[in-house]
This record gives sequence, structure tokens and C-alpha cells, in this order.
Amino acid sequence: MTQPETQPRLIGHGIADLPDHVDVLVIGLGITGAGVALDATTRGLTTLAVDAHDLAFGTSRWSSKLVHGGLRYLATGQVGVAHESAFERGVLMEVTAPHLTHAMPMLVPLMSSVSPVVGALARAGFLAGDLLRRSARTSPETLPKPRRISATETLQIAPGLRTEGLRGGLLSWDGQLEDDARLVVNVARTAAAYGAHVRTRVRVLNATGTRVELRDEITQEVRTITAKAVINATGVWAGDLVDEITLRPSRGTHLVLRAGTLPDLRATVTAPVPGSTSRFVMVIPQPDKTIYVGLTDEPVEGEIPDVPTPSEAEIGFLLDVVSAAFARPLRRSDVAGAFAGLRPLVDAGDGSTADISRKHAVLTSRTGVITIVGGKLTTYRRMAQDAVDAAVARADLDAGPCATATTPLLGAAPRADLARLEEPTRLVRRFGTDAALVLDTARAVTGLSDDELLAPVSDDIAVTLAELVFGVTHEGAVDVDDLLDRRTRVGLIATDREAALPMARRALDLTTRGASH
Ligand SMILES: Cc1cc2nc3c(=O)[nH]c(=O)nc-3n(C[C@H](O)[C@H](O)[C@H](O)COP(=O)(O)OP(=O)(O)OC[C@H]3O[C@@H](n4cnc5c(N)ncnc54)[C@H](O)[C@@H]3O)c2cc1C
Repeated sequence: MTQPETQPRLIGHGIADLPDHVDVLVIGLGITGAGVALDATTRGLTTLAVDAHDLAFGTSRWSSKLVHGGLRYLATGQVGVAHESAFERGVLMEVTAPHLTHAMPMLVPLMSSVSPVVGALARAGFLAGDLLRRSARTSPETLPKPRRISATETLQIAPGLRTEGLRGGLLSWDGQLEDDARLVVNVARTAAAYGAHVRTRVRVLNATGTRVELRDEITQEVRTITAKAVINATGVWAGDLVDEITLRPSRGTHLVLRAGTLPDLRATVTAPVPGSTSRFVMVIPQPDKTIYVGLTDEPVEGEIPDVPTPSEAEIGFLLDVVSAAFARPLRRSDVAGAFAGLRPLVDAGDGSTADISRKHAVLTSRTGVITIVGGKLTTYRRMAQDAVDAAVARADLDAGPCATATTPLLGAAPRADLARLEEPTRLVRRFGTDAALVLDTARAVTGLSDDELLAPVSDDIAVTLAELVFGVTHEGAVDVDDLLDRRTRVGLIATDREAALPMARRALDLTTRGASH
């Protein structure tokens, strides 16, 4: 396998200084494109990956941020998909990204609306989920075994639940990401460190299997680059570049609540939709003093928006379901923010759609563009492997074997080593062993004291100047939107974003003094 370069290449923007020809050109820098870039470059292929906007601009920042073990796919008999998900969950949590993942307790409260039959089915499902964990060889230290818990213990981890009729709970464990966009940025930075050219603000205007026309979205300069293989990883926008693909997305909305709205919630609660035995809403505590409530499933008609927006009807539905499960009814004013992402459904051409939001698809167009679409954040590594395998076979590339299952991302280390690091916890949680590099870089670039570099924006907003500076110097951030909406996620709550804006501007001022792109 290729080794990381001693002077690692950094993520850049625009089309200046790019080679005229590469082995693999990747379109899109969501989790899929970033994963493809890392896979291709670690196989020794010259690689260029571009995004029209920024890293994680699309669906990859609108997820539930869970690293799924595939349990839900067992229910529909998709054993292969379930096993793949469990295997990839184990790779992420134990090898490639222990620093960005942690175990999340998942609680099904056994309340009056959950009949004993549904409860028994859920319990059988969790035991099957544990079999999946074992078959993927993921340690019970990483993800403990499921168990039934008493009503008292249920209320200890989810104190706000309604108590009347509560018989106890079913507790299982799945993975949670520190942040989805952070995973994308980390994968992209790792790809660059292994030698890939990674560029934001570069839109692909049109593509064939060997030639791509690119436009620098800042200078408007247009240029053609040739490649032995072209991989389209543009998610729900895949059909814009390849005529044969028509996607009809469906929208999934989450609410963002302040942690204090449901105090001391320590588990993801699965709340049943009243009147349904198969639909649930998840209430998911986040590492940054917020809680997400999701998810809806609404068809989207017409042009695919750059940034999808939740409807008031979806917000009302989510509030109603959570209010039925918790003692304190939620109000519209409890909603601090809301966001939506689009699942790709492939139009089968006969009016029906094929759901590829679980299993991914690799499709080769008439001109030879390889499109990789669908799947999940959890399975990005396998998706990238399949796409690069297809490119290697089609273009007869001289490539090594896929190495990503054993290639830790930058900053990754075993959990015990991470726990011993002395840098501030927030930096370790978001950068792993690179926390020291983040701090050293910020010190060197700004000359400021640690007190200034590590002071949070406010008690509720943990973002620091040090990480914003690193966002610019090492993670390709170009403007305040990149810093507030992708490198950090403070933008999920509009008032928090406003409060953090001066710090983001300061980070850009401090870094652009000496920066060159
Ligand atoms: C609501 C929701 C919740 C989810 N929750 C989870 C979860 O908890 N766990 C999980 O594992 N998965 C989850 N998923 C699935 C996961 O989020 C997606 O599978 C994944 O993010 C898709 O990534 P992608 O890279 O394929 O697409 P995207 O992230 O959309 O990336 C495509 C990129 O292509 C760029 N692009 C588009 N056109 C061009 C062009 N012409 N030139 C250059 N660049 C271009 C865009 O700017 C964008 O950045 C969820 C999905 C949804 C919708």
C-alpha cells in the first residue's frame, strides 16, 4: 500500500496547479467521494477528487449520525446488507475511526403503546442484532450486549419518559458518530495525506468515462482533465451528470433541541408513532449539548435543491410523536433548529422506484462513467471499494489491493490510547491524536495564548478558535460557511451560528495573513 506523504498534501480549492491527467477522477466529496479518493490513492492510483461546493456539502451532513449495525435490514430479510453494515460498523469503531465514534445506548421503552407482542419481537430483533455484532467480530467492549432493564433503570437513562404504564425497557447498543461532516473531512484529509488532490469549489460541468470538464466556482475558469476512470459520487445529484440515471429523492427531517429540553437523556429513545406498530421516531442525544429528533420520509418533487428544507408538517409530526412518549409535551418553541437530507430512490423507469438508501449500487454509463450511489455513511468504505474495483476492472488499472479496512484515518488510535491524551477532551473527540497538531498549528499561526485558542464561544457553544484555525490551515475551509456549517456544526442552530460568526471571521483573518492556496 502507498504510504502517507512526508509533506502531506493539503485540501485545496479551485483548479490551479492540477495535473492534466490522473488515473481516477472522483466527482463529489460527500462521504462516498471522499471514501473513493482514499481507496484509490491508497491503491497507488493518481487521484483527483472535486466538489462543486465544499466537503460534506450534500446529504452527508444531514444524517442521524448513527453507525448502524444493520438490525433493521434483518427485519426485511436482507441478511447480506445487515452483515455488511455490522462489519463496516466494526471497522469504523475499532480500526479506522475510534476517535470519531462511540457506543450509543439505544432504548426501547416498554410503555402501554408497545404491546407485549411488539416488545417480544423487538427483543428477538436485538438478540439477532447481537449475533450480527458477533459475526462481524466486534468486541462486546466496543458494543455491549443487549438486555432487558427495569422501569427504574429505564428512567435513570431517560428521565423524561412518561411513567404511567412503563414496564421497563429494552437496551441495546449501536455506534454514534461525533459528527457526520467531521468524518467526511477526516476521510478527505487522509486521502490528501496519501497523495490525492482534493479540491473544493470545483464543479464538474460534464463527464465521460475518460474526460471531465471542470469549472472553478471562484474564478469561473473552465478546464478539461482526462482520466483513466471517472467515478460519479454526487449522491442525489448523480442524474445531473449521467443521462441514464433518474433519482427521485425522499426527504428525511430532524429537529434540533437544546439538551435542557429533555434533561439528562443518556440514551437514544425509540418512540413509537401512536397508532402504528412499525413506525418509530428516534430521540438522539448528541455530544454537543443538543438532541436530534428524527426522522420523516417525504417524497420530493421537482428540481433537487442544494439545501433541502423541512416542512412545518414534518416538524409538527415529530413534535407530536415525542410528546406522546415524554412527560413534558414539546412545543414549537422548543425547536432550536431543523434540518433535512435527501435519500436517493432510483427511478426504475416504469413509474416505480427502487430503494437504494440501504444497499448501494454501482452503475456504469454508456460513456463509461462509474456511478456509486445509495448506501450509508456506515458503509462508505465498502462502497468505495466496490466503485474502485469497478474502475480497476473497466480501465485495466495497475492498482494494488484495497487497503482501507486496515488504514486508520488521520488521528485514529485505540480507545485506551485516546483516553490517555492530555489535550482538551473536545479536541481529542474531534481530532483524535491530531489534537496536539490542532493546538500546535493554532499556536504557531496566531501567536495567541492557549486561553484564547481554547475558550468556547459560550457556555452552550463549545466551538474554539483553535479548531476553526485548523479548519482553514488543514481542512480546506475557505469561508465562514465552511467553518460554521461543515468543519463545525454550530450552524444547525441559527442563533448559535450568529454568536460564533465573529470567531469564525477572526480565524479566517488570522490564517489568511500567511495562507496561500
Ligand atoms: C435523513 C437521512 C439520515 C441518514 N442517517 C444516516 C445515519 O444515521 N447513518 C448512516 O450510516 N447513514 C445515514 N444516512 C445515509 C447517508 O447520509 C448517505 O448515504 C450519505 O451521506 C450519502 O453520501 P454521498 O457522498 O453519496 O452523497 P452527498 O453527501 O450528497 O455528496 C455528494 C456531493 O457531490 C457534490 N456534487 C454534486 N454535483 C456535483 C458536480 N456537478 N460537480 C462536483 N460536485 C458535485 C455535492 O456538492 C455533494 O457534496 C442518512 C441519510 C438521510 C437522507
